[in-house]
Amino acid sequence: MRSLEELQKEYQRRTPTSLKCFERAKKSFQGGVASNFQAFDPYPIFWDHAKGSKFWDVDGNEYIDFNMAFGAMLAGHAHPLLVKAAGDQLSKGTLYCAPTDLSATCAEEVKKRFPVDLVRFTNSGTESTMHALRVARAYTGKEKVIKLEGCYHGMHDYLLQSVEPELSEAGPENRPATVPQSKGIPKGVTEGTIVVPFNNIDAMRDALKRNRGEVAAVIVEPIMMNCALIPPKDGYLQQLRELTKEYDVVLIFDEVKTGFKVAWGGACEYYHIKPDLVALGKCIGSGFSLGAFGGKKEIMEHLKAGDVAHGGTYSANPLAVRASITALREILTKENLEHATKLENKLVDGIKKAMKDNGIPGFVNSIGPCGMVFFTQHEIYDFRSNAKYYNAGRLTKYWHGLVNNGVWIAPHTDEHWTVSVQHTEEDIEKTLAVIRKIMPDLK
Ligand code: PLP
Repeated sequence: MRSLEELQKEYQRRTPTSLKCFERAKKSFQGGVASNFQAFDPYPIFWDHAKGSKFWDVDGNEYIDFNMAFGAMLAGHAHPLLVKAAGDQLSKGTLYCAPTDLSATCAEEVKKRFPVDLVRFTNSGTESTMHALRVARAYTGKEKVIKLEGCYHGMHDYLLQSVEPELSEAGPENRPATVPQSKGIPKGVTEGTIVVPFNNIDAMRDALKRNRGEVAAVIVEPIMMNCALIPPKDGYLQQLRELTKEYDVVLIFDEVKTGFKVAWGGACEYYHIKPDLVALGKCIGSGFSLGAFGGKKEIMEHLKAGDVAHGGTYSANPLAVRASITALREILTKENLEHATKLENKLVDGIKKAMKDNGIPGFVNSIGPCGMVFFTQHEIYDFRSNAKYYNAGRLTKYWHGLVNNGVWIAPHTDEHWTVSVQHTEEDIEKTLAVIRKIMPDLK
């Protein structure tokens, strides 16, 4: 069994050019990275290029990529159809700030998959949840919002609350405190956000009761995918739907991660639920900056000049929209999703077997082409149960073992993996061989 120190030494031995790039980047970027999410210890691997299911780092190491840009690249890297579509569009102009027939086509593709009457485009998941929230407030005339502890909805102040709070600050389990996830968020904003635990309908009812008449919206990741991978308990989302109707509160599904992925029509299809609004991002752009939000006509029709603001110079830019249409029509198809899910099932079976054969306690959660390994036997059903039983030591060794052997998962060890439509049987077999090889190090 090798120690973490030995695994870290091997990481450094394989990636000297990344270290050089990092030293250089530190001179221009705070922390040496362009975004906090790109930072990890001891230093990040710098990428050179990516294609299909793989990428190559600046030292020439090849990796099978299972992070897939935090799940955004279900299409896989540099898909030939996307390369062609984007190339065609480049020569026709990439930004008009004017209506195009393309954007209506793209909106129609979204409407085929999600139960929404009207759609608007944004540039990111952050913008999608921010705009969904604003229009929900305008529609209801209420200000407060309820979010679930451990869910992440992007970088804007209202929802950047209790994403990963310190347990010492998080307050009672059934009635959590709202803990800003960052300095610099005004107190007044934090006060308008109520936090409840995931998978606990009584706590949700209690919060709605206590704030009756003041809550505009409940926003939820229908499957927690920014806190490991935690599915809703049977009936939880249905009860949430009923409860939000009873209290006249807009239900927003944040499908930035689940959309296009856990099923062709996202979590709405997977769980047969019709929320009032849906926020989309990641896969809708398949590598191009595009997000969307949409929902019931009576809510969305508040978005008009002089009533509810929505805009953005790059919103619905023809390059991203053209790429999205190609991705949605030709790449993220039902057949291709089935292919990725089949490979996922094979991967999951193999991981479970390797854990069992090596006597490593734990389990695997998997939905669609996404999965996550848990090195605990305790039930994980919300942020706190995950935080309590999170086996950071084993997950860190697991991550190093994979990466040193050319298998890439997110460096944030409680992030799920994604099998893309371009992964192959061979990728899965290679990955399972690596997993079997590294399991003894986890004993
Ligand atoms: N909502 C969810 C569920 C997400 O996972 C993310 C990003 O990971 C966002 C919103 C924010 O999306 P973006 O990073 O595109 O702003």
